[in-house]
Amino acid sequence: MAIMNGDSTEIQAPVLHKEKVLDHKNALEVLKNEYPDRDGIDVKTLLDSKNNGGLTYNDFLVLPGYIGFPASAVNLDTPVTKRITLKTPFLSSPMDTVTEHNMAIHMALLGGLGVIHHNCSADYQAEMVRKVKRYENGFILDPVVISPTTTVAEARALKEKWGFGGFPVTENGTLRSKLVGIITPRDLQFHDDASDPVTKAMSTDLVTAKTGITLSEANAILSQSKKGKLPIVDENYNLISLLSRSDLMKNVNYPLASKLPQSKQLIAAAAIGTRPDDRKRLAKLVEAGLDIVILDSSQGNSVFQLDMVRYVKATYPGLDVIGGNVVTREQAAALIEAGVDGLRIGMGSGSACITQEVMAVGRPQAASVHSVSTFAARFGVPCIADGGVQNVGHIVKGLALGASTVMMGGLLAGTTESPGEYFVSREGQLVKAYRGMGSIDAMEDKKAGVGSANPNDPKASNAGTARYFSEGDKLLVAQGVSGSVLDRGSVTKFVPYLMAGVQHSLQDIGVQSLTELRQGVVDGFVRFELRTVSAQAEGNVHGLHSFDKKLYA
Ligand code: GDP
Ligand code: GDP
Ligand code: 5GP
Repeated sequence: MAIMNGDSTEIQAPVLHKEKVLDHKNALEVLKNEYPDRDGIDVKTLLDSKNNGGLTYNDFLVLPGYIGFPASAVNLDTPVTKRITLKTPFLSSPMDTVTEHNMAIHMALLGGLGVIHHNCSADYQAEMVRKVKRYENGFILDPVVISPTTTVAEARALKEKWGFGGFPVTENGTLRSKLVGIITPRDLQFHDDASDPVTKAMSTDLVTAKTGITLSEANAILSQSKKGKLPIVDENYNLISLLSRSDLMKNVNYPLASKLPQSKQLIAAAAIGTRPDDRKRLAKLVEAGLDIVILDSSQGNSVFQLDMVRYVKATYPGLDVIGGNVVTREQAAALIEAGVDGLRIGMGSGSACITQEVMAVGRPQAASVHSVSTFAARFGVPCIADGGVQNVGHIVKGLALGASTVMMGGLLAGTTESPGEYFVSREGQLVKAYRGMGSIDAMEDKKAGVGSANPNDPKASNAGTARYFSEGDKLLVAQGVSGSVLDRGSVTKFVPYLMAGVQHSLQDIGVQSLTELRQGVVDGFVRFELRTVSAQAEGNVHGLHSFDKKLYA
């Protein structure tokens, strides 16, 4: 083709192709007519184990699509069980160096879920569940109430015990008795004589609302009243429930929080084992308000777990049960038939885990996630991709292969909200302990009756549960290691980073929600590429003399 320039000399266009060069205006048309398959490979071809072997997250990439929307518009709503949907797909592992109540509260506030570990006494674990459920409320239906004879000293002690200090005072000191006043931390603060009854310090000019009022109406009264609490009373001025101003702020500050629509309480999840003692433990957790129980076993397809699933479904129809861990269709089918509301996928892919090495049993995580979650999807059972998540990319890959949520241990163990204290490593870095629950350390603690990452706590005593079959044996066979992870700051920064990362990734893929991602993969619209070892090297930082890897700012 010849092109004329300004002074009418002919310039030769570069020859791109031997064939006739097509008109650029027809590019999309040509693509449509002559390339029936989208570029790259579909998920089935990718996971074809005969040709490709069992893949891990690092062995493939997702191909980009078309961006026609901002990353912030990407919706991450996703189910964690058949009945419960979260606004973000992030779960923290039930491990004693990862999830106690503080992590569970913050994961839930940020739209995910923290699964409370069971390497502690049943009472201690139930107390942690109670703390999650008490943290935020709509109407507080069982507020702590005191009587007019309670002393200022006693009220102060109650504040220490519960963590809040606003107590309604009623004639009998119980709910459904006549409201006479309210005592708050400010009333208690400067009252000199601690032996005085609270009636000497409490406020009596109360703004109240009548029972039957909606939560929105009650919130409006509370906002206007400028008081910290709004007692709800019946026509005889008996106390029925309570509203707290700080909950309005929590709702504003954490718009994604994982809450149940009726109570506005945070969703609480906890793990248990599958031994007879775990039934007693479960009763205490349910009593404390548990919403989701995870049956914690490294190999979930056992007679114990199948029995436990049936028992939980029959005994607590309101409680959702997640079974696992599984990595094959056959394991999943047994648990699905027994009635699980969700499945947890992964065996040997955890960062502190040596199961595959020691037991020769397990499966690469990408293969497990795809195999189990495509089968489970046929029965409407959501799956958790558990373990082996080292970065945002791994999260997206787990979700693209069919998981509804991902569970992280090591990635969250270095945050402020995990149990335990920071310490300085031999290399001078700030770290926190992280250990596999099948490590000798964790199993010995359990055997010795220490349990919990908080061994000094008097409530922590023999756990009596076993995730790893070796735990009941004379000789312990480790399936995990004990070590440390680097400081990662607070989950209140880290989880929003993960969320923004996933949103940007889905934007690159060209899908606007996790539902669209899953559908796109099933339909063959979202495509993949295998990654050779050299492709993996190319995809990581290379050729630099030195660099800083700062992940977010
Ligand atoms: P206080 O002023 O010391 O009572 O504490 P805050 O105003 O900070 O709020 C108390 C928090 O604890 C709110 O999020 C409540 O929903 C929660 N909470 C849970 N149960 C109770 C209860 O029985 N009484 C009170 N006062 N708060 C409760
Ligand atoms: P939202 O997305 O949580 O605000 O859900 P809704 O639309 O169901 O909210 C209904 C009403 O409940 C609104 O007035 C909210 O402000 C209020 N609300 C939501 N969460 C809480 C909470 O934790 N405590 C209180 N007191 N009100 C809440
Ligand atoms: P991570 O996110 O650190 O890669 O993996 C966390 C997951 O590893 C946990 O949710 C749990 O499934 C698994 N895990 C925890 N402790 C052990 C262990 O000692 N051995 C094995 N095999 N897996 C573990």
